[in-house]
Amino acid sequence: MKDPVQALHAIQARITAAERLNNRPSGSVNLLAVSKAHSAADIRVVFGAGQRMFGESYLQEALTKIEVLAGQHVEWHFIGPIQSNKTRGIAEHFSWVHSVDRLKIAQRLSAQRPYRLPPINICIEVNISGEASKSGVPPAEALALARELSRLPRLRLRGLMTIPPACNDYEKQRGNFRRLRELRDTLNQAVPGLDTLSMGMTDDLEAAIAEGSTLVRVGSGIFGKRGT
Ligand SMILES: *Cc1c(COP(=O)(O)O)cnc(C)c1O
Repeated sequence: MKDPVQALHAIQARITAAERLNNRPSGSVNLLAVSKAHSAADIRVVFGAGQRMFGESYLQEALTKIEVLAGQHVEWHFIGPIQSNKTRGIAEHFSWVHSVDRLKIAQRLSAQRPYRLPPINICIEVNISGEASKSGVPPAEALALARELSRLPRLRLRGLMTIPPACNDYEKQRGNFRRLRELRDTLNQAVPGLDTLSMGMTDDLEAAIAEGSTLVRVGSGIFGKRGT
């Protein structure tokens, strides 16, 4: 692994530059450090440099790190696929879930959210490109799901998330992110309070910020390539 603190600073500089370029207020884009496949020790190093929001994709792997780092004021975000039998662990240990695309999963998260904790923050994952292999709700079904979720007492619906297909073309990247923003704007008329667009990763965060991202999810750009 390269020095993750240097890498964190480089990502922060990219975010700041993109905010300026698009006339967006400094600090309007949050950085989620995606620590899947990296150790609690790696997280501690990045936490030590001031990073507070960390994203995980696999519950079992996450719980081990959450236990090691308990008491450190890390804000944990779940960003991976969710099976029904994982909802309790997610409801008990995470502040945010970005990857909700089924009502049944949302109902379980609401029912299982402990009362000592505030409502859990939720983004609906949208399959913005329509690729068959991708998870996420089709755009045409997002409004119906948002209405259902907004009625669940222990959830706070915050916005939308997407993972577009990897692509090197900046204008194509922007096109996918623009569609997610427009969908969020449409949903906001029926279900107000959607303040979050979780979009942009290591390779496309500039395009996402240009289209209004409020949270970029960066893994390899901070921790290095997974599995090395
Ligand atoms: C792994 C992952 C990321 C981070 O991707 P990088 O390309 O490593 O920055 C972001 N979002 C989700 C949902 C992921 O699973």
